Amino acid sequence: MHAEVVRRSPAEPEFHQAAREVLETLAPVLAARPELADAALVERLCEPERQILFRVPWQDDAGAVRVNRGFRVEFNSALGPYKGGLRFHPSVNLGIVKFLGFEQIFKNALTGLGIGGGKGGSDFDPRGRSDAEVMRFCQSFMTELYRHIGDRTDVPAGDIGVGGREIGYMFGQYRRITNRWEAGVLTGKGPGWGGSAGRTEATGYGNVLFAAEMLRRRGEDLPGQQAVVSGSGNVAIYTIEKLHALGARALTVSDSGGYVRDEKGIDLELLKQVKEVERGRVQDYAQRRGSSAVFVPGGSVWEVPGDLALPSATQNELDVVDALNLIRGGVKAVSEGANMPTTPQAVRTFQDAGVAFGPGKAANAGGVAVSALEMRQNSGREAWPQDRVEAELATVMRDIHDTCYETAERYGVPGDYVAGANIAGFERVADAMLAQGLV
Ligand code: GLU
Repeated sequence: MHAEVVRRSPAEPEFHQAAREVLETLAPVLAARPELADAALVERLCEPERQILFRVPWQDDAGAVRVNRGFRVEFNSALGPYKGGLRFHPSVNLGIVKFLGFEQIFKNALTGLGIGGGKGGSDFDPRGRSDAEVMRFCQSFMTELYRHIGDRTDVPAGDIGVGGREIGYMFGQYRRITNRWEAGVLTGKGPGWGGSAGRTEATGYGNVLFAAEMLRRRGEDLPGQQAVVSGSGNVAIYTIEKLHALGARALTVSDSGGYVRDEKGIDLELLKQVKEVERGRVQDYAQRRGSSAVFVPGGSVWEVPGDLALPSATQNELDVVDALNLIRGGVKAVSEGANMPTTPQAVRTFQDAGVAFGPGKAANAGGVAVSALEMRQNSGREAWPQDRVEAELATVMRDIHDTCYETAERYGVPGDYVAGANIAGFERVADAMLAQGLV
């Protein structure tokens, strides 16, 4: 089957990687349930239901015309409307969007909240762009996207390069074009206009809760643990916030320029000021932090030893050399805040060394889970307080952890959260597809 995926979608290495990782783990469930194999469910799952590619023209502040490409891959809607983020980053191409959309199917199924899988974005690079340029880009992007989405059809949200500002500009344009107050068409909105309290924090918070559950199964807990965190965006920031709230210490942050190691633990107020207010770089954080922090230009953050590793930057950021470094440094658990940040060989290296490994489609599902709660609030025109959202997030993360753990046991691969997540997500989607016939 994997050869067929590669043949039909050449030059999409990240999609091939994501598909291979899932396909490799499904043998036990396909053997136990031949009806799933007979209905060609794996083959059907690997083919998106719909793929939309479009031109996004816009004008920069100097008046020059720019052209980017927009994507929305509507992968699977057996469990609910397509749901998944939009990524704005120069590396975005169809293969990247397909890998993210494919993972999203299983992740969303694991939440149990009735959402299908999709993903989109653009090769637009927001870095260094003015607010006005970002707004014009978002408006142009939505001027095409609006016809494909809807609160019962496809519900985008943020991802790398798309946060509250971009969601605001896109929501405004959607509302203007359609003349509808359709809050549930996008998630990650501001809390004053239909957004959920706690959505911004949800991915990072959820990942720490998942890591804590993995530790608990090993008879350990979070307080006192030292964590190596990569990235410095939304996921990394709220990972660090939750680590500190639960008594652990985050030692690092990183971006494409290098990493910061802060012996006293990352100062979250300063990090938020540099990243969220000034839209600066981790080097700026180090310069202002004082003697506890050093900036290592161009270095790999995984050189830093820690009890936990929480990759929260981007795909394939942690390879086998990094894995061996972390294992030498005594790492006990790795929990993926980003999507597919660990290379397949590095995943195997951790698992062979007995390190608990939580794959992104389980560990980082808190973000999309709170997006689903935002949709629920929108359809009831409600605004839940943050403590209610956080309580529901904690329940969802515990359920996902236990589902993965128990599924792995049931199918004879105890402790393998990768197989547990893939099989449990697959069974939910496959059962729904089977029941709904050949569509
Ligand atoms: N982009 C996030 C993810 O990778 C969130 C998607 C959403 O909230 O729809 O799951």
